[in-house]
Amino acid sequence: MTARVLDGKRVAASVLDGVRARVEQCRTHGVHATLAVVLVGEDPASAIYVRNKGKRAAEVGIRTLDEHLPASTTTEALLELVERLNRTPDVDGILVQLPLPAGVETERVLLAIDPAKDVDGFHPDNLGRLMIGQPRFVPCTPQGCMLLLAEADVPLRGRRALVIGRSNIVGRPMAQLLLHADATVIMAHSRTADLRAEVEAADIVVAAVGRPELVRGAWIKPGAVVIDVGMNRLPDGRLVGDVEYAAAAERAAAITPVPGGVGPMTIACLLANVALAAERRVPA
Ligand code: NAP
Repeated sequence: MTARVLDGKRVAASVLDGVRARVEQCRTHGVHATLAVVLVGEDPASAIYVRNKGKRAAEVGIRTLDEHLPASTTTEALLELVERLNRTPDVDGILVQLPLPAGVETERVLLAIDPAKDVDGFHPDNLGRLMIGQPRFVPCTPQGCMLLLAEADVPLRGRRALVIGRSNIVGRPMAQLLLHADATVIMAHSRTADLRAEVEAADIVVAAVGRPELVRGAWIKPGAVVIDVGMNRLPDGRLVGDVEYAAAAERAAAITPVPGGVGPMTIACLLANVALAAERRVPA
């Protein structure tokens, strides 16, 4: 079997088409969807992410407000900025690019974001809502994974889904979404006794670890669907996922490539969340 490749670029482009239309619709009601992007310091990877988000946002008609602060910024100063953005009525979404420099209290800053503007979906209020099945904003990467699973056209109900990784931004919300879709969800992490056995039993595997090719292709159950969230830069410059792609693609029914799988979906889903926030501002 050779897996169907789930093309994140193509699916993301269609998500972005939808976002563009929604943003235009908001504008007809006098609402211009706006995302405030807070970047602290000079981390080169963060600067690239922020630039890409700004570019994609502009392509779909979303306005971005860039707030670039020096690495020496204190927690208090950042909290003040977040409070100001919370109070600005025409800011729909606030994104604080992580990681923040050492010395800044990340948790306090993220907690200060108004949950109604938390388009990343990282605020405990939003994660709690997701858990009880009443999401306000779904975190972007897991949301993107769900759209790719829909694209693969796999039924989730009653299927055994394995999520590897339990971070608050990927693994845990991913497991919740699969649970809401009636999958039987297993979560694996660094203390899991036999990862291979868990993978071998899974109909759906979502790998969100950050270890190059941790999941060997030979472990994949024939016909399983594989979503690889991992993005790992090798010493030779290549970007690889958490799954041994070529060997896994021999066995899986469908698989996401790295790059070009989950990555493009994350940004598309972020902008979809901004559109959602703007729609909530449209007068009834
Ligand atoms: P994270 O916070 O570092 O969490 C990694 C998780 O992997 C932890 O729960 C950890 O378990 C688990 N883990 C570590 N070693 C393991 C092992 N040997 N076996 C099983 N589980 C193991 O990472 P994250 O933020 O969730 O990101 C995960 C990966 O996704 C990274 O490569 C990141 O770059 C990528 N990512 C991609 C996108 C995208 O848009 N494509 C977005 C976000 C993240 P413990 O909890 O026990 O420590």
